[in-house]
Amino acid sequence: MSELDDLPLRDELRGQSPYGAPQLDVPVALNVNENPYPPSERVVAAIATAAASAARTLNRYPDRDATDLRADLARYLSADTGVTVTPEQVWAANGSNEVMLHLLQAFGGPGRTAVSFAPTYSMYPEYARDTHTGWVVGRRAEDFSIDLPHARSVIAEHRPSVVLLASPNNPTGTALPLEHVRELHDASAAVLVVDEAYAEFRRAGVPSAVTLLDSCPRLVVTRTMSKAFALAGGRLGYLAASPAVVDAARIVRLPYHLSAVTQAVARVALASAGELLARVDALRSERDRTVEWLRSRGYDAADSDANFVLFGRFPDRHAVWQGLLDRGVLIRETGPDGWLRVSIGTPEEMAAFRRALDDVTGRG
Ligand code: PMP
Repeated sequence: MSELDDLPLRDELRGQSPYGAPQLDVPVALNVNENPYPPSERVVAAIATAAASAARTLNRYPDRDATDLRADLARYLSADTGVTVTPEQVWAANGSNEVMLHLLQAFGGPGRTAVSFAPTYSMYPEYARDTHTGWVVGRRAEDFSIDLPHARSVIAEHRPSVVLLASPNNPTGTALPLEHVRELHDASAAVLVVDEAYAEFRRAGVPSAVTLLDSCPRLVVTRTMSKAFALAGGRLGYLAASPAVVDAARIVRLPYHLSAVTQAVARVALASAGELLARVDALRSERDRTVEWLRSRGYDAADSDANFVLFGRFPDRHAVWQGLLDRGVLIRETGPDGWLRVSIGTPEEMAAFRRALDDVTGRG
């Protein structure tokens, strides 16, 4: 067996490790922003029925264009945002990770640059690396919002072909005002990707960038069924944009990238949206309670429109992370130095988190 060093690995991949948080078997897993509620037995049965009928056709390739699924996604997105989105404006892939890889494959590439503003989702530089796209990262303001003059100057200097902005942002939970999205769209000729993986958790009155699609032709809004829909294991992400952006994604996708089973499962989840999304309100309340509790204990906690909270600051955050893990609570060591991120779980899981944190830090 040859060692990795003996293989003709691309130079920029030497010394790199695969991305991902530790997948540890712990009683309380609050580290990857999953929805803590599994599907009901009714949804499980509906998925099993749909998977069985897909199984009867598995000798055939699936619908390459996922036509029925994209129509269902367009209907859902129209209902969620109040804006009419057509199936031609929607593209779907294996998680929003793959949707964004398609975007970088289509609009990035050698000699081109992608820009984002840190702290933000740590997969963005990997999409750039894997598509040979240059990567430039500016910074967010102290309160984790986008510092518009700084953002404009980074964009003017580097003339990116793709700008990636998460809203709500991971790991900070910060949502972008629509005026900022519009300004940054108009500031360059780049494709502006607003990654709304956590959009369904936004607080009342926080709008979706989908409402800007009509007036911003290079805007792409990505979404996922991994979070609010509680379908992380199903792997289904999607985007809404102009039909021309969808045409570009169709050029770079592998043929038959979305299996017949994935398409069938996602369609059942969308048909059960009412039931699957019913827990979103409870998770938002639990998040707001978590922010208040952390502040009442004297911590900084960033305002969050997502299903997680960034809090700190700790002189030795690793020790706090490890102390929680020793007590069976796994959170994420991410974000600026001194901060930690906790995903919102069930009330019982959050109680375990609070107890463990008090225990580790001696506060409370
Ligand atoms: N965007 C953001 C901001 C995320 O945090 C995540 C997952 N953690 C994703 C995209 C990707 O999610 P998925 O591929 O499961 O859709």
